[in-house]
Amino acid sequence: MCGIAGVWNVQDAFSVLHDLLLGLQHRGQESAGIVLNNFRVLKGRGLVEQVLTEENWLESERGIGHVRYSTAGSLEEIQPLVAFTKKGKIAIAHNGTIPDAEAWIRSLQERGAVFQSTLDSEIFLHLISMSSGDEKEAIVEALKRVKAAYSLVVLHEGFLAAARDPYGIRPLFYGKYRGGFVVASEDSALKAIGVEEIKEVPRGSVVFFEEGEEVVEFEKREERFCSFEFIYFARPDSSFLGENVHKARCKMGEELFAENPIEADLVIPVLDSGLSGALGFSRASGIPLDVGLMRNRYMGRSFIMPVNREKIVKKKLVPIGDVIKGKRVVVIDDSIVRGTTMSIIVNILREAGAKEVHVGIHSPPVRYPCYYGIDTARKQELVASEKDVEEVKRLVNADSLFYLSLEGLKRAIGRSELCVACFNGEYPHLK
Ligand code: AMP
Ligand code: SF4
Repeated sequence: MCGIAGVWNVQDAFSVLHDLLLGLQHRGQESAGIVLNNFRVLKGRGLVEQVLTEENWLESERGIGHVRYSTAGSLEEIQPLVAFTKKGKIAIAHNGTIPDAEAWIRSLQERGAVFQSTLDSEIFLHLISMSSGDEKEAIVEALKRVKAAYSLVVLHEGFLAAARDPYGIRPLFYGKYRGGFVVASEDSALKAIGVEEIKEVPRGSVVFFEEGEEVVEFEKREERFCSFEFIYFARPDSSFLGENVHKARCKMGEELFAENPIEADLVIPVLDSGLSGALGFSRASGIPLDVGLMRNRYMGRSFIMPVNREKIVKKKLVPIGDVIKGKRVVVIDDSIVRGTTMSIIVNILREAGAKEVHVGIHSPPVRYPCYYGIDTARKQELVASEKDVEEVKRLVNADSLFYLSLEGLKRAIGRSELCVACFNGEYPHLK
């Protein structure tokens, strides 16, 4: 998962991009990069504050930026990507993954294309360069050919473009700002800099920004926004399809209790991802919510660290014995992927004196990998791919384990036109 941003005709684009990317930092902490007017590039590993520093400040009115999640790839592979094409200079930043990227790369190479990176995002640059018509027509032509999954910002000498794939899998928003325009993956990042009127880039459309904005629809398919953005990924103060993420997570917790009424003394959230869901579960059940488990914020991220993951998760979580001791607790988290985190949490709570430990998950079991840009895991690593709920319960050593149903999830979000492929294996691009 990644975050993207764009700025068009705004004084001090560098600082505006810095602020927008900071508001999207939760979407990727591995690297940050920007491309400004005249295609000046600034990229580096680490957080926005480490890369877009005061010493690196550059005067600018236009630019695009990217924060990257995945650990793979060298410095050259940090986005945005820049290319000198038949249609002029182009820079591109991409959020999402193209599931049939290998086939695309092979077919482009057969036509003579030379790839500079292993990033699927480079496919767009080749397609734009090879398409007929003027620069804008070439972008529209290229986008028509790739079905999923992308949100893109494209910087050209004469305009900025923001696009979403025909299913609208990944998010993208824009608004007017200080006489120009700004674009970001989540509306909360735009709100944070003071944008008042925020619009969603419609799915299957590209918005061109010059003097004004021009929306061009290239291909609309059935809406399939990623439900995992609601469940885990996005910031709680963001909204998608008009639904606030925090409120949707609260409702997931409420639905979870409605489907699984249980008796217990205490609801404990797994911070921070399980907090909103635990709040909803507590409100619906009347079982008090308390912080029984603290998180050390200064430890590295454990989710994608291949080695010593268990050790890191264990050090990251600190139980509050005085809260837990002798209690029947229900611990609430947003998801179980490989099962490592929850096994450790249950054991920590037992060691801290919990009488019973029940586990509630406010999404359905993750059984299938995501091919659209959320790094879940390979199928064989997903604990629910082969094991049923009873087996996962035994594995994490819980007294009971319950998940939210797919219908419950859709009710909580208030929508049914979502991508839920990691739960049911029905991938929109294969239909
Ligand atoms: P696991 O230990 O693999 O079961 O990971 C589950 C934990 O990771 C939960 O606490 C989730 O909040 C969190 N999580 C779920 N999906 C992701 C993701 N794509 N990236 C990072 N963390 C995640
Ligand atoms: Fe989101 Fe899951 Fe669909 Fe991937 S498969 S886009 S994580 S809902």
